[in-house]
Amino acid sequence: MRAWPAERAPMIVSGQGEYLVDSQGRRYIDGISSLWCNVHGHRHPRIDEAVRAQLDRVAHTTMLGLSHPGAEELARRLVRIAPGAPAGSHGPLSRVFYSDSGSTAVEVALKMAYQYWQQAPDARPQRTSFVRLENAYHGDTVGSVSVGGIELFHSLYRPLLFDSHAVPAGDAAALDALLAKHEDEIAAVVVEPLVQGAAGMLLQPPGYLRAVKELCDAHDVFLVCDEVATGFGRTGTMFACEQEDVVPDFLCLAKGLSGGYLPLAATLTTDRVHEGFLGRFEEFRAFFHGHTYTGNPLACAAALATLDVFEEERTLERLQSRIALLEQLLEDLVAPLDHVAEIRRCGFMCGIELAAEPRRGVAFDPAARTGHRVALAARERGAIVRPLGDVVVLMPPLSIAPEALEELVEVTSDSIVAATGQAVGALAA
Ligand SMILES: *Cc1c(COP(=O)(O)O)cnc(C)c1O
Repeated sequence: MRAWPAERAPMIVSGQGEYLVDSQGRRYIDGISSLWCNVHGHRHPRIDEAVRAQLDRVAHTTMLGLSHPGAEELARRLVRIAPGAPAGSHGPLSRVFYSDSGSTAVEVALKMAYQYWQQAPDARPQRTSFVRLENAYHGDTVGSVSVGGIELFHSLYRPLLFDSHAVPAGDAAALDALLAKHEDEIAAVVVEPLVQGAAGMLLQPPGYLRAVKELCDAHDVFLVCDEVATGFGRTGTMFACEQEDVVPDFLCLAKGLSGGYLPLAATLTTDRVHEGFLGRFEEFRAFFHGHTYTGNPLACAAALATLDVFEEERTLERLQSRIALLEQLLEDLVAPLDHVAEIRRCGFMCGIELAAEPRRGVAFDPAARTGHRVALAARERGAIVRPLGDVVVLMPPLSIAPEALEELVEVTSDSIVAATGQAVGALAA
């Protein structure tokens, strides 16, 4: 934190499409979609207009005891695009609970899963624990940190957290063994489907998510899929779960939900779970959880317009050629660099792992802050990227123009060269 004042972070004063502009008038490509959430670009006219129109009606009313048309319409649309929904209708994920960040979307899923087993008709009150994947990231609040597994972010807080069982990501046999042993005490298994984002874009082997789902079903344990990062087209499909035909019991959404405009989150769940919270007044089975800005009307308006743009601009169809272009550019410009150990990519989520000696598996000294220096070098060259340690993340808006995508990868390549001290001639050779 000492370095922060000296580094003089750019003051961003405006944006347009995939570009950001700072107070000095310098323009940058937004290579990380403003922390993974911008979908259709900045100042999209359709979304701007929707927020303005809502502003002319009302900016905020509570969803505690009241509702509003935007929240209702958005819930209807979310259940129709959720994994497992047949065309024009909803599937098993038929219920929507709003909150305002990815962390709260996960907290809601954890509390609901726990409370369900405490009080539902098929209650199993011993089920108070959760299974998490090693290196998981589900947010920064204490509950979501409890199911997190990133040493640097999470280990210090261990004494404050509730216990959870960790299994290695990608290892279905380990989960099988754990569930066989501890089924009676486990409320839910929590995963980031296909890609563990904050861990550094760690990819799971094909078939793993499907296997997790089948194991959860076999033990009647809930599956929570945290699609806060992967949702809304990031992996090439609307939701990552679709790629393995998985319908979880809880689907956590945030980041791209409002197009990256305003804080909004939703936790989708099933009728079965919903019914576990019904009862006579004096049974007090309600889900006692509600944030002040839950389901904020401006945010819901942005989210509805975001979904409109997916349809009108055929975003997912058009994304496919950009994904292919990104793959090609990484192959040509980044893979050959001396200090690139691995490129991990799923759709438009990408992590470039740097190492001092990739072939011998020798990492850079953390004190060298290599990933960070790549980001500073990229900033000078007109692109915003943000590393996770020595993994350089690229996550541009889905709408990025092919020329800008090319420039982004070129800048990233040049910046890796600059920060790792590789001679440029070596690349040409
Ligand atoms: C970003 C993220 C979160 C936390 O979202 P916030 O809105 O920052 O609270 C949770 N889960 C995943 C997978 C994320 O990438």
